[in-house]
Amino acid sequence: MRTRRGMCYPKAAENQRDRLLKRRKVEQIDCRKKSRFSPEFDGEFAGRRDFFDALPDDLVLCVLCKLSSTARCPADFINVLTTCKRLNGLGLNSIVLSKACRKMLAVTAKNWSEPAHRFLKLCADTGNAEACYTLGMIRFYCLHNRGSGASLMAKAAIASHAPALYSLAVVQFNGSGGSKSDKDLRAGVALCARAAFLGHIDALRELGHCLQDGYGVKKNIAEGRRFLIQANARELASVLVACPSAVVPQSWLAWSPHRHGGEGGCPLLSDFGCNVPSPAAHPANQFLTEWFADRTGNVPGPGLRLCSHSSCGRPETRRHEFRRCSVCGAVNYCSRACQALDWKLRHKAECAPVERWAEEDDDVNVNVAGAGGEPMDER
Ligand SMILES: [Zn+2]
Ligand SMILES: [Zn+2]
Repeated sequence: MRTRRGMCYPKAAENQRDRLLKRRKVEQIDCRKKSRFSPEFDGEFAGRRDFFDALPDDLVLCVLCKLSSTARCPADFINVLTTCKRLNGLGLNSIVLSKACRKMLAVTAKNWSEPAHRFLKLCADTGNAEACYTLGMIRFYCLHNRGSGASLMAKAAIASHAPALYSLAVVQFNGSGGSKSDKDLRAGVALCARAAFLGHIDALRELGHCLQDGYGVKKNIAEGRRFLIQANARELASVLVACPSAVVPQSWLAWSPHRHGGEGGCPLLSDFGCNVPSPAAHPANQFLTEWFADRTGNVPGPGLRLCSHSSCGRPETRRHEFRRCSVCGAVNYCSRACQALDWKLRHKAECAPVERWAEEDDDVNVNVAGAGGEPMDER
C-alpha cells in the first residue's frame, strides 16, 4: 500500500543525489571552461582541491619547519599563517616555532604590539634560544621587566646562545637592574669567556680589554692583545663569508688612518691593514636602538642615558651606570667593546677635551690610553 508520503513527495535521498549530480556537472563545465583559458589553473585547482588536503600533517610540518628556519623576515612566515586554518594551526606547532631563525624573529620596534609579544613568547616557550634572547632583551631594557628579561636571557645562555652570554656579561659588569654594588666582574669575565669561546666577536674584544686592563681578571697584556687580534680575524672572516671575494673592493686593503668614519668603513682591522664595512647589529640591538629613537615616550628613565655606540641601543638602568669618555665626557658606553668600536668608527673624529664636565660629576675618571688609542674611564 502506498502512503501519501510515498506518492506525493520525492524521497529525500533521491533529492540529495540529484543535487550532487547537478553540482558536479556544473563544476566539470566550470573547470573545462577555465582550463580552456588557462591551462595552469587546472593544476592549481586540482592541487587546492585534492593534493593539499591529502598531504599528511607530518609533511606540512616539515615544510613549515624549513620555512621558519630560513625565513628572511617575520612577514615571510606570518603571511603563510594567515593563508588558511590548517596552515595556521600547524604553523603554531611547537616543532615549527622551535626552529624559528634569527631573521624570522626580528620584530621591529615600530611593529611591536601585544600579538607580536605573544608570538615571541610562544616561540620562547618552545625553548627557541633566539626567541628567549630577543624577548629577554626587550623585556629587560624596553619593558623594564628586569626579572623576567634576565631569566629569559639566562635560558638562552644555558642553551649556549653566544649573544645572550655576552649580554649577561654586560649586565654583570654594570650591575644593570641593581645597584653599583651588584657589579660582579668575575662573573662578567666568565660569561664573556664562554661567549668568546663560541666565537662571539664583541665578547672576544671585551675579554681582550679586560685582560689588558686587569679588569675582573689577572692582568695579562699579551694575552689580551691575542684576543683582540682574534676578534679582528673573526670580524674579517664574517665579512668575507657574507661578501664573496669577487666583490671585495680594493679599498678594504688600502687602509688609511685619516679617512675613518666618512666612508662607512670600519678600521678595526687596522692590525691587518684592512678596512671592512661595519658589522650588522643583532636584531635585538636594532630593536633597542629603534625603540628609544622613534617612539615617543620611550625614554630609558629620568637622567638615564643610552650607550653612544649606534649599533648597541642599551640604556642605563640607573644613573651613571655607564662609563663615559674621559676626554670630552659627552658620550657614554655600556662596555669597553662598544667604546672601542665607536672610537674607531666615529668618536675619534669628534672627541675634543672639555674641562668643565669633570667638576660637575663626583665620579672619578682617569685617562688611560686604550689599545686603539681611545681614552678610557676607570670602571
Ligand atoms: Zn653598548
Ligand atoms: Zn670623547
